[in-house]
Amino acid sequence: MTATLVAEDVRRSYGETVALDGVSLSVDAGEVFALVGPNGAGKTTLVRALTGTTDAEGTVELFGADPRDVDRERVGLLPQAFDPPARLTARELLDYYAGLYDEARSVDAVLSDVGLADDADTWYEDLSGGQQRRTCVGSALVNDPDLLFLDEPTTGIDPAGRRALWDLLESLADGGTTIVLTTHDMAEAHRLADRVGLLADGRLVAADDPDTLVAEYGGESRLVVETGADPAALDLEFPAERTGDSLVVSEVPPEAIGEVVDALGDAGASYDALTWSEPDLEDVYLELASTAGEYGYRGATGRTDRHGDAPAADADGAATAEGER
Ligand code: ADP
Repeated sequence: MTATLVAEDVRRSYGETVALDGVSLSVDAGEVFALVGPNGAGKTTLVRALTGTTDAEGTVELFGADPRDVDRERVGLLPQAFDPPARLTARELLDYYAGLYDEARSVDAVLSDVGLADDADTWYEDLSGGQQRRTCVGSALVNDPDLLFLDEPTTGIDPAGRRALWDLLESLADGGTTIVLTTHDMAEAHRLADRVGLLADGRLVAADDPDTLVAEYGGESRLVVETGADPAALDLEFPAERTGDSLVVSEVPPEAIGEVVDALGDAGASYDALTWSEPDLEDVYLELASTAGEYGYRGATGRTDRHGDAPAADADGAATAEGER
């Protein structure tokens, strides 16, 4: 596999705030890479650094070239904050963006791809939030890019529109387009991405295919029983604890759910509902984000340190350690 995108030790600070604290990343041709992470983790800054739309230290290469030198016909970018003129129609907007490229796609085809064929002649300001976002996604597709960056493409789009957009992105990926996207939707990341990278405090704390991440960090399956039963009164061979109004029993394989039901019956405990679930990417996210928060340190410098040697902070919380950027 050839890497379409290679980033090494990318760093970016805004004043005292360290937005990116040494991110290295490689994305192969045809791969879909999803960046997830809490607000302020650095996702947008990383997309901007990778696309050359902000200055950053370290090296970034797209198709072997600096992002600012790369043939722009090959790259599409949907920024998170994108505010096109309100009194242009969706078609006029896409026509405008298509006009910036030598070899643009048919605007009607792009409008149809993003589900806007019927509303193509509506002013941008009169489109719904979801339709506006889809127009913006369309603007990143007019040049039929080989590499597509989408910063929160589906935010504000209703579930049906979101699924339609997933189908579109999947068909682009099947056609060989390399996609880097950011999202807060773990179902979206799991469905679309070959690899998911979790960014926390400006660092990439894990990057792998979603199933591997779930196996590694997702924890155990959970059986949640709405009951007032005391776990100590139940004859259970699985770890169980009370959480609010529920009893949470861990590590129960699906075929052993009956054993828990029997134990409740034997103890004369009633229950209203019982839900079994496997860990998913959201569990991974919560686990990794909380671990990063636990060990991380972001003082006035924004420097993060998760190796147990967090810099000392003075009374005002200002970091005093060496090595700050
Ligand atoms: P995310 O996209 O994960 O929410 P961002 O990349 O937007 O995170 O922000 C990372 C950090 O950098 C945050 O602390 C944010 O406040 C800061 N930051 C981002 N852009 C700017 C900017 N233009 N000026 C100052 N600080 C910024």
